[in-house]
Amino acid sequence: MLRQQEDCLALAARLGFDDPPVFIDNDVSAFDGGRRPGYDALIAQVEGGVTHIVVWHVDRLYRQPRELEGLIDLVEHHPVRIESVQGGGFDLNTSEGRLMARQLVAIAAYESGHKSDRVKRANQRLAEQGRWHGPARYGYGPGGVLIAEQAAVIRQMADRFLAGESIRSITAWLNRSQIPPLRAGSDTSGLWHPYTVRSVLASARISGQRAYSPGTRADPAGGREILGPGDWERIITPEETARIRAILADPARRRTTTARPSLLGGIARCGKCGAGLTIAGHTSAPGANPTLRYVCQKDPSHPERGGLSISAPLLDDEVTRGILHRLGRPRPASDTSPISALVEQIVETNQRIALLEQDSAAGLITPRERMSGQRAAEEALQAAHRQLAAAGAVGLLTVPIGDPAGLESWWRRLNVADRRAVITTLIRKLTIAPGRPGRGFDPARIRITYAS
Ligand SMILES: [Zn+2]
Repeated sequence: MLRQQEDCLALAARLGFDDPPVFIDNDVSAFDGGRRPGYDALIAQVEGGVTHIVVWHVDRLYRQPRELEGLIDLVEHHPVRIESVQGGGFDLNTSEGRLMARQLVAIAAYESGHKSDRVKRANQRLAEQGRWHGPARYGYGPGGVLIAEQAAVIRQMADRFLAGESIRSITAWLNRSQIPPLRAGSDTSGLWHPYTVRSVLASARISGQRAYSPGTRADPAGGREILGPGDWERIITPEETARIRAILADPARRRTTTARPSLLGGIARCGKCGAGLTIAGHTSAPGANPTLRYVCQKDPSHPERGGLSISAPLLDDEVTRGILHRLGRPRPASDTSPISALVEQIVETNQRIALLEQDSAAGLITPRERMSGQRAAEEALQAAHRQLAAAGAVGLLTVPIGDPAGLESWWRRLNVADRRAVITTLIRKLTIAPGRPGRGFDPARIRITYAS
């Protein structure tokens, strides 16, 4: 708190204000709805004609959207400029400044709500049972508090490994996606190493289990001996840890799954029986090239299965078009999924940055205004990306959202596993309805339910 105050006073001095009055609301949480005497006193000052407010971060000033609206109303009659140590300044008298402030406060409110839930849950767990021992590890903060963004990355690592990807390929994916590793000791390269990936995957802790640790900080590559259940939240199941360890101990175990993965195999489901469709080659005439189709496979133990199929390349194209469309344009009002809201926020922030550049080129705003607007927008972008990661949408972190040309070439560069990760992030259900015999490809058979 004291450091934040010093930062604010230093910024005020740089702006030419000596000895300004200071308002502090020390221990009022953003979401308990408690009164904030410092805030009320500050508002009284604005009504009295103050022209500048310096804050450490905007979320210290108005921590809920409705507080911001109150402040904006006030500013209609009392012009005031807000400068923040973290994230630059903006002018609530301009629509640009108001938009920026609304966006930042919406993100801050979202973050604050989630963080307090997480902390509450963690404290409750610690009280009920024993404790987490040792330092923070990837996926968990000090005390074993689950870190949602990192947990989502671990979930992806495990899915990819169990689906047949190698440790090397997962390491490359992490580095390509610019997902930062946990910094350990002197290693500040910011890159993942195969050894780290292996030890995270083999660790007992990610499935919520205690392991024997004979005084070493680093995890052995095959994983430590498991003692029993731990008292922290698990990211994968103990069965998955057992399968991961078995494959690590004997890579030959997964030679059975050498087939190249298809884009939608297992993701697309049969509209008659609900089974996951698998890809198969069909030859229409002897000697002709096989055409690939997703099919509901016959299964003697499930007599309801079989009979349904759809062209694989055409379904792939149709779903790809839907995905790119969704990432390229703001959502319709009917779409209330938080991931879509974040995607839309990113699109809007990018448009705002472009607008700032235009206004600056036309001489409508000063370079200083442009800089601070840009800083605020970039902070909003980073926050939106953190939220995407926290929502488990790590597949979307490197997406050029809102840029149709960039999206196309980004998609072309992805491998099938990455594309499947993006698809399963955005789509909750993909169902293929039965077709009429003798008809060609009918897009109306495709039912997409987007993630919410
Ligand atoms: Zn079926």
